[in-house]
Amino acid sequence: MNFSTKLRPGIVAATIVATFVLVAGVAYANHSWGPPYHWARTSNPFTLKVGDNVSSAWDQYLDVAIADWSQSSVLDLTKVAGGTRPKSCRPTAGRIEACSALYGNTGWLGIARIWITGGEHITKGVVQVNDTYFNTPTYNTPGWRSLVMCQEPGHTLGLGHQDENFNNQPIVPHTCMDYFIPGTNEIVHPNQHDYDQLATIYTHLDTYTTIDASLRLTRAQLDDSETHPEWGGVIQRDASGRTSLYELDLGMGRKVLTHVIWAE
Ligand SMILES: [Zn+2]
Ligand SMILES: [Zn+2]
Repeated sequence: MNFSTKLRPGIVAATIVATFVLVAGVAYANHSWGPPYHWARTSNPFTLKVGDNVSSAWDQYLDVAIADWSQSSVLDLTKVAGGTRPKSCRPTAGRIEACSALYGNTGWLGIARIWITGGEHITKGVVQVNDTYFNTPTYNTPGWRSLVMCQEPGHTLGLGHQDENFNNQPIVPHTCMDYFIPGTNEIVHPNQHDYDQLATIYTHLDTYTTIDASLRLTRAQLDDSETHPEWGGVIQRDASGRTSLYELDLGMGRKVLTHVIWAE
């Protein structure tokens, strides 16, 4: 049966319109998750510390992600000793904490969370990958591990997804900021568009820094005493209608954004 031969002109026209809307939708969703959230800093390139709270099964993927994102012309990531227990994955002001643990049947493979001050400046970020799923045959592959361990740190730098549809063709060259099913043994990296986007986000300089627990920030700005386990309201959904981004508004320009990638 050849479906296309049975299409009538009206259906073809409707398909063209639908395709246009989809393309426009992708363009709209392209790399935007609200204002251009970014780490405040007074010069480029800047160095951001990543606390290692991941198990040995994840170390190589975290190392690849750190090396990959450091290819950016505006920033470098450097691995440091972890600052939290992996299960609680509490944030540390001025840096990223990367955690792996058996988080249970939460539905999510990975999340990335950033704390915002002044409406746009990231003060801390966490990445969590859920071994409850990564210990299963479906996800215990270099492809899935590298996709998620590259994508979540990307969010903590201020990037959104390039695409949020698991069912369309993957972006070429592949990027970890795309929703796609990776090859079993593929190691997924960012692509040039991600680096271009970072360069755009970090073009301007700020008058203060949110990096490395700067003493220039007040306690209220850092909001270091609270971890905010709750995600807040849904502000974005993927092509399948599943939630992909949550926002918890703390008032006064402070908020917590939580980006989620779900298990199938
Ligand atoms: Zn800024
Ligand atoms: Zn994501």
